[in-house]
Amino acid sequence: LTTADPIDEHRICVCVRKRPLNKKETLTKDLDVITIPSKDVVMVHEPKQKVDLTRYLENQTFRFDYAFDDTAPNEMVYRFTARPLVETIFERGMATCFAYGQTGSGKTHTMGGDFSGKNQDCSKGIYALAARDVFLMLKKPNYKKLELQVYATFFEIYSGKVSTRSFSEEVSSYVLPFSPFVQRTSGQTSANAHSSRSHAVFQIILRRKGKLHGKFSLIDLAGNERGADTSSADRQTRLEGAEINKSLLALKECIRALGRNKPHTPFRASKLTQVLRDSFIGENSRTCMIATISPGMASCENTLNTLRYANRVKEF
Ligand code: ADP
Ligand code: MG
Repeated sequence: LTTADPIDEHRICVCVRKRPLNKKETLTKDLDVITIPSKDVVMVHEPKQKVDLTRYLENQTFRFDYAFDDTAPNEMVYRFTARPLVETIFERGMATCFAYGQTGSGKTHTMGGDFSGKNQDCSKGIYALAARDVFLMLKKPNYKKLELQVYATFFEIYSGKVSTRSFSEEVSSYVLPFSPFVQRTSGQTSANAHSSRSHAVFQIILRRKGKLHGKFSLIDLAGNERGADTSSADRQTRLEGAEINKSLLALKECIRALGRNKPHTPFRASKLTQVLRDSFIGENSRTCMIATISPGMASCENTLNTLRYANRVKEF
């Protein structure tokens, strides 16, 4: 790092969250290859074999702002990631919070919460927790006198196109007029197949006298393993894979530019970054990335890809 090009630590937060082994992984005796030895370190212990067939563990260490193990509830992950960004939008800033990771690693669990009843921890996700705190902040005397209006919107980006699920509408209470998570946690195979290929964007927008005051974008990204679909036999799958790849790369570059206060932000490179354009520029923009990882040995390659990507976001 040069002093001329420092990372603004305050602007970017990168965290990792490990989920527990699920039923299927336990049944198939998949190994848990991830440890979180301290609150900011993730270790991957990948079983390997030498040419003489002796087995060994290849250990790799990654450091982040925070690392959450499989016992951390949503409320705790929220407190260290999105919670500080709620203040940002009241102070006329732009905030974004992304869940990035392989399909099945816990992005929707983290962002939307889990209402399937399958889990003991059927707690609210970051969408609902952030909305709750926005409405709490509105009641504070300092902000109350600003007479802010709150709008919420939910849309998806699929194959490079925006499809609106709910129009932006003014909301007057913590109970949102629509439920951004319902379609994505229905548990149906078709719904999962769709959500693994689309970026879901939930935005909470504050306006004052009709003018934008602050905006919080919360994004449940497409499964990052889809970016590898570029060699699929199916043309549609290949095109979608290329689009996802392009958007995740563009996202990384935009966050890196934001962290280095670079005047040039490459947001035009994808629909996702175009849509989030105003969040990557401006003096008071802040971003948090939550990289979700599966613990199993079977997911090792995807997990390493996720950790490397997350690492790059803050690396020079
Ligand atoms: P993704 O959205 O990344 O594809 P999901 O959020 O749908 O993944 O998670 C896959 C499954 O794992 C779901 O059944 C979810 O409830 C469960 N799960 C994910 N993260 C956790 C966690 N931290 N604790 C308990 N269960 C989890
Ligand atoms: Mg999901």
